[in-house]
Amino acid sequence: MDKIAICGAGPAGLAMALMLTHAGHDVEMIERFVEPAPVGSGLILQPTGLSVLAELGLYDRIRALGHRIDRLWGTDIGSGRAVLDVRYDAGPGGRFGLAVQRSALFSALHDAVVEARIPILSGRAVCDVRDIAGKPILELADGEQAGPYRLVIDASGARSQLMSRLCHDESTQELAYGAFWATLDAAAMPHEPNALVQRYDKANVMIGVLPVGRLAPEGRDKIAFFWSQKVAEADNVMAAGLDAWKTRIVGYWPETAALLGEIAGWDQLTLARYQHRTLRRPARGRVVFIGDAAHCTSPQLGQGANMALLDAAALARSLREEPDLDAAIAGYCRARRYHVRLFQLLSRMFTPFYQGDSAALAFMRDQVVSTLARIPPAPRLLASIVAGTLLDPFASAGVAEHAWARD
Ligand SMILES: Cc1cc2nc3c(=O)[nH]c(=O)nc-3n(C[C@H](O)[C@H](O)[C@H](O)COP(=O)(O)OP(=O)(O)OC[C@H]3O[C@@H](n4cnc5c(N)ncnc54)[C@H](O)[C@@H]3O)c2cc1C
Repeated sequence: MDKIAICGAGPAGLAMALMLTHAGHDVEMIERFVEPAPVGSGLILQPTGLSVLAELGLYDRIRALGHRIDRLWGTDIGSGRAVLDVRYDAGPGGRFGLAVQRSALFSALHDAVVEARIPILSGRAVCDVRDIAGKPILELADGEQAGPYRLVIDASGARSQLMSRLCHDESTQELAYGAFWATLDAAAMPHEPNALVQRYDKANVMIGVLPVGRLAPEGRDKIAFFWSQKVAEADNVMAAGLDAWKTRIVGYWPETAALLGEIAGWDQLTLARYQHRTLRRPARGRVVFIGDAAHCTSPQLGQGANMALLDAAALARSLREEPDLDAAIAGYCRARRYHVRLFQLLSRMFTPFYQGDSAALAFMRDQVVSTLARIPPAPRLLASIVAGTLLDPFASAGVAEHAWARD
């Protein structure tokens, strides 16, 4: 039987490779980096993503490293008024989030891939594909080819080259705001133990502190720190110097001073840029898109890695249950359609309230939305948005929700 190619060794690609290998498929991964490695700082695994990891047998490992998050809590800098207060326990079932360092998630998945002896062609960037209706052949940046394959799964992220080659008809929006991110020592700042804490000034200032746990059981606990940054102004901010940047932040949130003291140069910060795109159909012939290659957005709702894991589960399920390949691809597209669209829409709606230039939206957020958010059933609704469960994501992906009660 021909192999299945998976482009990209991020959360989507690694989870996909494990699921298909467990199901008896012959899989080959292709990754542009020589040493596959995670990009960025921390992220929140939601009950959705955690349930997929549990099915892969990785829950205990990641749970031991990550930091439990029960609450998302944001206040207005000027008034101190709470403008975001979402608690997972407003929803059913004892759900919670788990904030992790990206490297912790990456290592858990990558170690399992190595253990399963799944081949990774590393240091090879995929740049094009041909024969997508039959047996796809991949064109690599070094001029070589790989394949033919039975199926190509593109998990190469928001800036996927295959996606841009095959999906000319889909529109992508570059978002004006990104963020500077750093991973810093948690001991440097007293923080809310089980919360993502944010401070806002209108919608153009957002500062966040997220405890993200450790990389190894005996390791030191870390905090992911982020500062919302208009991408077009990032060069000016850097030219004005690190001290000016820190002084501004400490002016907004004095308790961050010791934490920021750990940052000695811009090289400790990553400027993340965000795009928004939702493929209308995440497949072209026998090339299937999963994760950020299929749908990307700002991380405001903290769903991206979780959606990527759900995509992988849904595609694995469809390939397992449907012997005809084209029908299996169609089944995957159907299975993820509504959940993906709903959360992409919600992310598009919420983002300008937190990262944007509109004073009117910020005023609405502070004066109206924050009040409405306290009136039932809003707390429960918000909890299910953050948990990724507003629309049942489990049944269509063939995933059983983890039994949270025992945590
Ligand atoms: C700052 C920030 C904070 C975030 N916070 C959260 C959060 O709290 N919760 C959450 O769920 N999500 C969060 N996200 C989103 C999340 O990181 C992504 O949705 C997730 O990483 C998508 O996984 P992926 O595997 O699809 O893509 P990626 O993680 O982007 O992985 C793609 C892989 O493909 C490889 N690749 C790229 N191009 C090629 C090529 N041409 N050939 C071969 N390989 C290639 C890359 O090197 C990489 O290894 C955040 C994102 C950012 C930027």
